[in-house]
Amino acid sequence: MAMVRTTCPYCGVGCGIVAQTGADGSVSIAGDLAHPANLGRLCSKGTALAETLGLANRLLYPEIGGQRTDWETALDRVARGFAETISRHGPDSVAFYVSGQLLTEDYYVANKLMKGFIGAANIDTNSRLCMASSVAAHVRAFGEDIVPGNYEDLEEAELIVCVGSNAAWCHPVLFQRIATARERNPALRLVVIDPRRTATVESADLHLALRPGSDVTLFNGLLAHLARSGKADADFVQRQTQDLEDALAAAKEDASSLDRVAAACGLDIAEVARFFDWFAATERTVTLYSQGVNQSTSGTDKVNAIINCHLLTGRIGRAGMGPFSLTGQPNAMGGREVGGLANQLAVHMRIEDPEARAQVQRFWNAPVVAGKPGLKAVELFDAVAAGRIRAIWIMATNPVVSLPAADRVRAALQRCDLVVVSDCVRDSDTARLAHILLPALAWGEKDGTVTNSERRISRQRAFLPPPGEAKPDWWIVSQVASRLGHAAAFAYHSAAEIFREHAALSGLGNDGSRRFDISALAAIDDEAYDSLPPVQWPVTARRPGGTARLLGDERFKGRFVAVRQRRVANEPDKEFPLALNTGRVRDHWHTMTRTGLSPRLSGHTPEPFVAIHPADAAAAGVAGGDLARIVSPWGEMIARVQCTGAQRPGTVFAPMHWTDAFTACGRVDAMVNPAVDPVSGQPELKHTPVRVERFTVAWQAVALTRRPIDVTGSAYWARLVTSHGWRYELAGAVVPQSWDEWVRTLPADERTGEWIVYRDPRHRVFRAALLQDGRLEACVLVGSDVTVSREWLADLFTRNALSAADRMGLLAGRPMAAAAEPGPVVCACFGVGEGIIRAAIRERGLSSVEAIGGAVRAGTNCGSCRPELASLLRAESGTGRAAAE
Ligand code: SF4
Repeated sequence: MAMVRTTCPYCGVGCGIVAQTGADGSVSIAGDLAHPANLGRLCSKGTALAETLGLANRLLYPEIGGQRTDWETALDRVARGFAETISRHGPDSVAFYVSGQLLTEDYYVANKLMKGFIGAANIDTNSRLCMASSVAAHVRAFGEDIVPGNYEDLEEAELIVCVGSNAAWCHPVLFQRIATARERNPALRLVVIDPRRTATVESADLHLALRPGSDVTLFNGLLAHLARSGKADADFVQRQTQDLEDALAAAKEDASSLDRVAAACGLDIAEVARFFDWFAATERTVTLYSQGVNQSTSGTDKVNAIINCHLLTGRIGRAGMGPFSLTGQPNAMGGREVGGLANQLAVHMRIEDPEARAQVQRFWNAPVVAGKPGLKAVELFDAVAAGRIRAIWIMATNPVVSLPAADRVRAALQRCDLVVVSDCVRDSDTARLAHILLPALAWGEKDGTVTNSERRISRQRAFLPPPGEAKPDWWIVSQVASRLGHAAAFAYHSAAEIFREHAALSGLGNDGSRRFDISALAAIDDEAYDSLPPVQWPVTARRPGGTARLLGDERFKGRFVAVRQRRVANEPDKEFPLALNTGRVRDHWHTMTRTGLSPRLSGHTPEPFVAIHPADAAAAGVAGGDLARIVSPWGEMIARVQCTGAQRPGTVFAPMHWTDAFTACGRVDAMVNPAVDPVSGQPELKHTPVRVERFTVAWQAVALTRRPIDVTGSAYWARLVTSHGWRYELAGAVVPQSWDEWVRTLPADERTGEWIVYRDPRHRVFRAALLQDGRLEACVLVGSDVTVSREWLADLFTRNALSAADRMGLLAGRPMAAAAEPGPVVCACFGVGEGIIRAAIRERGLSSVEAIGGAVRAGTNCGSCRPELASLLRAESGTGRAAAE
């Protein structure tokens, strides 16, 4: 067994992983006990990584116009396309759209080529969608993009305020660290500020389900309260901050009294007062925030409103306290460090600063350097649509799914003269529009560094050989740069070489004026790079082992920013009466290109859904389990209705993950408002006015098969991978002439064997199953709705032959015996379903999450499902909120 230490490719927690590769090529994945971010833990997504390493849907060879070609031809064509466009229309007519999935070294090279050699700054990243508002607010408050604290602060705090973050699902390992810290220290309180009652809320001491977008008022109210109640650290404020008066005046104007805050935020006065009192009384307070804060047209102001409260109380730069931005992607931070956003230069140097530009140009020995900020993500694709950008290179991301008003993005790319996509995925909504496809290495094959939310730089190391002709992203960019005439500046042979250059640049003219400084790593040799342990920047001659916390010294001068609550870009109205919030589910990542390959991850949320409050559902004429069409002024989607009291009235939630590869009309961003924050350019992904209406169908079906089936003709479909094939949810507007004929067209390659069929035309029920040598090959269950045990049916595919009882239950869609039905997956690690857990609670009188773990193992590995286990306990005991839903 070969063992390699690397880093998880998913969220910004940045967990260390130990990958072991067997002689037969098998891979096992475990958490790295020595990595400070996770200390051996992994969440459900990290645990299932080994299931996602296959080559299905991998792009293995360069392609032009859908035809395989060789690297030389493809690279020549890319370089010629960019060169001709630049020569005809100027450097601002080309763009790179990159990704927080790139490694720092890839990012560095792409940024260098665009800003230093093409001479434009039109390089932006999908990280614009996740943390640009935090970056902008950090720069306003700290003068630089700095996350001052670290994960240990969360364990040393006595109050954690979690704002706009479902950390239990989106940053699960960090949330488990918090949960463990709370077990050790029962005085550690958790306040969750979120319009939704998420899994994170399940263990909160206080939940403020505020009106969406009212965060600035809430924190302005807190600032005024802290000042009123004598909680300002006058010494700190006087010594290390500026502009308090303006910020306080704005706060008082915006949130003059508790009543006004409560009314503006749609909260109970007593709840607001309790939060304010707890914050005021607790020195060790960390405010943790994420996309619910950032993804807003007032995202930057929200972050500054939070930071203002920490500056006033001097709670920053010391153990157990501070504002803490949680990044979404594995290397959003690395991208920020190299300057991979359109409004940055490099290594925290400002693009507007002529001296900085001259220094960087000299360092790169570049012919030119971009003289002004480039286009930010949304405006960049608007420029593509307008024909101002004529050649675009998209690296490791899928903007046709993830950008707001995504149908506009698709249309823009369809019109663009040259679309180059470098990715590891062969078929994505964006790759389908590429003129040239360039195969990149995937996780497990790549080599470089990433930076997590606490500024910790970790190595991603390869443990798999490159498949096909796939290449590192930095190599691909360098080859194109070379063909554009810049061979000397891009003559890299390894990621280590690029890292050293990046580290050296970070120290350039840096007398301490920039905190981002890793110059102590500029001279490390290849061996030291290879064995580089996780380290938090700055890493300097004075601090060669890195720096745990920043902004705790006298050098730090913070700035209060006066912010006032602004109206959200588009309020719901009569035509679109509900506010749509979008986000992640527990077991999927971004556009599912990786997690969609894992059966155990796919089972937790099998299809796109819209969560809606029961009162809003009644008003819209939909019920739980229905299919609904959700419509906004920009587009629409179809999703399954989940009626839940966890949703604030007037709001709905839909997940961001589904693409055309997994469902019909399930791209939520097609309908998302493209309005952006005026400072950060981050889009309003959490607040789009929509209406929900019933999607009327004549029939619905569930089909389980060993092979993919043709879904054309279904008005709605969603598919997910199972351990033995595929599961489809289907629906149609017109009942077929003959179900018997229809069903035989589905499992395309399975036309022999024994069909068993049940028909009840009066009730529009049709059930059919195909058996070969006693083994189940496919089953299709049709009805006006299909309430069957999908998990039990899936389990039948694991048997070599069905028993008589199985065959009897098969067409009923559930077991004949009294055994518990598995139910939908709750614990992905051990595949434990809700039915099993509920039965265990009832029959064995279980009364704690630990007892459930002892009985059925659920929740005993990664812990991601523990909030759901707590919710099931309450539901079964009839005492909790879940029971009321
Ligand atoms: Fe990966 Fe999960 Fe850790 Fe995030 S919390 S880095 S997804 S293992």
